[in-house]
Amino acid sequence: RVKDQGKNHYQFYDSNMSALAEYRIHLETSLYRALHEHQLLLHYQPQVDVQTGDIIGLEALIRWQHPQEGIIGPNTFIPLLEETGLIMPVGEWALYSACAQRQQWYQQRNLPPYTSISVNLSVRQLLSGNIVHTVKKVLSVTGLAPQLLDLEITESMLMEDIKFAIQELGHLKKLGVSISMDDFGTGYSSLSYLKKLPIDTVKIDRSFIEDLPNDVDAASIVRAIIGLAHSLGLNVIAEGVENERALAFLKSLGCDYCQGYLFSPPLVADELLIKFNKLKHQAFIESSLSTFHH
Ligand code: C2E
Ligand code: MG
Ligand code: MG
Ligand code: MG
Repeated sequence: RVKDQGKNHYQFYDSNMSALAEYRIHLETSLYRALHEHQLLLHYQPQVDVQTGDIIGLEALIRWQHPQEGIIGPNTFIPLLEETGLIMPVGEWALYSACAQRQQWYQQRNLPPYTSISVNLSVRQLLSGNIVHTVKKVLSVTGLAPQLLDLEITESMLMEDIKFAIQELGHLKKLGVSISMDDFGTGYSSLSYLKKLPIDTVKIDRSFIEDLPNDVDAASIVRAIIGLAHSLGLNVIAEGVENERALAFLKSLGCDYCQGYLFSPPLVADELLIKFNKLKHQAFIESSLSTFHH
């Protein structure tokens, strides 16, 4: 049938396909170059203790400093990296850079010694059969204490091969690193899986947090997740905390940690330190003032 429509149709179809394929190849090539020409960088977002306001950890989030387009966020290029397999070298680079940066801060005593660094893993990395070796290697090359490294995985990743995923997570835990379940509540896995997984922390997805406390359904879900996680001995981080009311509500539910624009957006390393010192300074002033008033 298609043939009947003549040569023009073919050409139209072909040129369409090749435009798309060309674009993908173009993007793939520029991402490959991005890695080699150091256009990829990490931003760091603080994770804050709900009770004390202390920064307890940092999440490393990848960015692409494109020579023409400026800073590009990961949602636009992580899927392509995953499809092409480029996520393997890029993911290893991110893991290495985050650990090296954290270790540098450790040596320069710029951050409290126990501040952890969280790195996102993609499904390909977790199921590659190589992840335990890679993490071991990065820890040994950077000298970072395994207790300071946290690896973030998502529910949907596990479902591809749950048995193997649990096995690899178990090996990672034996290295001394901790594991967080990212975007919790958005996947389809049952809550009972939480008990089977060797994880330490549950990160409640920001879609449940953004309308707190007004959204009563979200509020019940968040309450249930916190209760369940705590009963299993897991820590809870709320993602996407943007305002004081959400924070107050989370505090009343006994949520352990928060992350979001209310405290800080993800920042480049130098800005992060400046922000951290400001927060520390402020906390110091507040605590001296409260002693003064007593
Ligand atoms: P994620 O791990 O769930 O990271 C949290 C995302 O929420 C980040 O988006 C962060 O900038 C954003 N965010 C933080 N606080 C707020 C807030 O208060 N309000 C709102 N609206 N958003 C907030 P980002 O940096 O664009 O990253 C998107 C996703 O890309 C990440 O989601 C993660 O899944 C992925 N990703 C980032 N870096 C890496 C990496 O190195 N490797 C892999 N495999 N994935 C990564
Ligand atoms: Mg994450
Ligand atoms: Mg998340
Ligand atoms: Mg996400």
